[in-house]
Amino acid sequence: VSKLIDGKAFARRLRADIRDQAQGLHARHGVMPTLAVVMVGEDPASAVYVRNKIRATEEAGMRSVSHHLPKSTTQDELLDLIAELNVDQSVHGILVQLPLPEQIDRDAVLDAISPEKDVDGFHIVNAGRLAVGRQDGFVPCTPMGCMMLLRSVVPNLAGLHAVVIGCSNIVGRPMARLLQQAGCTVTVTHLKTRDVAAEACRADIIVVAAGHAGLVRGGWVKEGAIVIDVGINRVETDSGSRLVGDVAFDEVSPRAAAITPVPGGVGPMTIACLLQNTLQAARQFATGAVVVE
Ligand code: NAD
Repeated sequence: VSKLIDGKAFARRLRADIRDQAQGLHARHGVMPTLAVVMVGEDPASAVYVRNKIRATEEAGMRSVSHHLPKSTTQDELLDLIAELNVDQSVHGILVQLPLPEQIDRDAVLDAISPEKDVDGFHIVNAGRLAVGRQDGFVPCTPMGCMMLLRSVVPNLAGLHAVVIGCSNIVGRPMARLLQQAGCTVTVTHLKTRDVAAEACRADIIVVAAGHAGLVRGGWVKEGAIVIDVGINRVETDSGSRLVGDVAFDEVSPRAAAITPVPGGVGPMTIACLLQNTLQAARQFATGAVVVE
């Protein structure tokens, strides 16, 4: 019988710890960690994510400032706002909620954020730091949370074979880098991989972030593997709809040594890690490691 990895409980503890640390930072340095959240347009899913992020920030004893811009916002207008936030001494983290409307070049916007305030870890400089194995950048929140959950089950990941399914810049790609840094042998699979199942079968660790409900079947998983399910998919049911992951949970959980549920697994960790990065940004500012000019 597999062990359920309780991301919700883990995230709750992490958030309480961050709250204590944020208070300590404020007491010692008079700095109130502050996250600026920028949303453009009316995407309903984004609106929910943004609300949750703002609420979690405030519950952790930090400040959030939100900027909601209309769907018609031009790229220059958005870049102007980011330029203001970059030099604002009272703002330590900047998050631009994705996706952006089509008239805006996502990469240009992400790369305009000061790397020292890039709490999502999507800036090319932070991606580069991670790619070359440096530890001084911001790490994207979802893979960071996955690593914490993995380490809660297996503290030492060295030598294990990890298969990552999906290679987006937000999840799969940085996930593979982190696993490699932790000493895993990593196979990255994606839509063009010929036989994902054959790769997955050999894995000690499977991390799936494909956005495909029920993709990982029982037969894809080696007995005793650890399975981290990043996927969030809404599926229709008789009584409406519900959220499921990328793993066929009922088939896989009897085989896995440990598995994350959806919901209640990776999802809550993502927000907790955003708070962790915001705290880190504020700490670097407070201790003079970063000078905002
Ligand atoms: P994406 O669409 O940007 O990337 C999906 C990746 O999966 C691509 O690399 C694609 O090649 C690969 N892929 C798709 N179908 C595949 C298949 N059948 N076999 C092998 N590879 C396949 O998505 P994303 O932004 O990385 O998100 C992936 C999933 O994770 C989505 O369900 C998303 O909602 C979820 N997500 C969850 C969190 C969280 O906090 N839990 C955060 C981000 C994303």
